[in-house]
Amino acid sequence: MDFETRAIHVGQEPDPATGAIITPIYQTSTYVQEAVGEHKGYDYSRVHNPTRTALQTALASLESAEHGIAFSSGLGATTTLMHLLNPGDRVVLIADVYGGVYRMTSQVYEPKGYVFDYLPADEFPNLAEHLDERTRMVWIESPSNPLLNVVDIRAAADAAHAAGAMVVVDNTFATPYLQRPLELGADVVVHSTTKYLGGHSDVVGGFVGTNDPTVAERLFFLQKSLGAVPGPFDCWLVLRGIKTLAVRMQRHCENAMAIAVLLERHPRVERVFYPGLPSHPGHTIAARQMRDYGGMVSFLVETPEEAEAIAGRTKLFQLAESLGGVESLIEVPYRMTHAATKDAPFASPPNLIRLSVGIESVEDLVADLENALVPAAARA
Ligand SMILES: *Cc1c(COP(=O)(O)O)cnc(C)c1O
Repeated sequence: MDFETRAIHVGQEPDPATGAIITPIYQTSTYVQEAVGEHKGYDYSRVHNPTRTALQTALASLESAEHGIAFSSGLGATTTLMHLLNPGDRVVLIADVYGGVYRMTSQVYEPKGYVFDYLPADEFPNLAEHLDERTRMVWIESPSNPLLNVVDIRAAADAAHAAGAMVVVDNTFATPYLQRPLELGADVVVHSTTKYLGGHSDVVGGFVGTNDPTVAERLFFLQKSLGAVPGPFDCWLVLRGIKTLAVRMQRHCENAMAIAVLLERHPRVERVFYPGLPSHPGHTIAARQMRDYGGMVSFLVETPEEAEAIAGRTKLFQLAESLGGVESLIEVPYRMTHAATKDAPFASPPNLIRLSVGIESVEDLVADLENALVPAAARA
């Protein structure tokens, strides 16, 4: 079955009890047993829940994963993955990693003795030189948040595996519709389902997929033991979201490309970051490992003051954190999503604006941005 069909049907068979075409929200904490230990695979909802099982099966299928494990948030998934490691283990992360992941590594796990090194995206071709026998994990975001850097996932996986390290790819920006890291050699794929997979800015969730049975077994154990599990209604919302993922992503990509082209020509824009532009340093790799280039566009304007003024002036692009919903959002990462990286050597530039381009009419979106880019001095 093709991706679009699996998104609608895998794990989502009609309810056997009633024929309901949509997977029910099994809003229950526990399950009645016939006799002690005799049950239908469900005993307690932190461990198993049928709505969560449906979501895990569906998302695993979309990521070409044998095993899918759902979490209460993207960071809940990340925390659980960090528990695959022990104090003293070293992780190499892409330098412009999501701000919340950096806050976790630098302020939660580093004080416990974990070792993190942050490698700029353009150093990834030399990844092998940055690995040693203590390195257990390489953590990639591609495209990255907020600078849309692109890493050659297959090359990074080859280098990491040669050094005995596992590769985790945060695929939140691309979604499995555009890029499937496990097919490119990664060991683990992680998501904030809060973003494109949910797709409607109404749920917070996370997901991990893998084909490694040992890793999967440990992650299922950690899922129930650490307890960062999503509720049934949250699972249902993400299941509902992924049914339309393919068509939403097509429109996100179309709209984002049009806006990236407009911004690149605009006299008030210093630089545009969008992997679909031939001027983007990762364009060739992105063209090889992605189906299309996604809905996120970042750009630099002259000053931080200007960035904040523009972000405050758009009307359709709402000023808000998060991304991946049907509605367009605008933000200044330095002051908002990436404030936790402010003091890091690779802080998001203060004059950077990040757009999550929604699926509204592209003409309306372009008009909104063009209006916001008119300098204050030129406004009558
Ligand atoms: C939002 C986000 C996360 C964190 O996910 P939450 O669901 O907010 O916990 C991780 N990685 C990326 C790339 C994100 O955009």
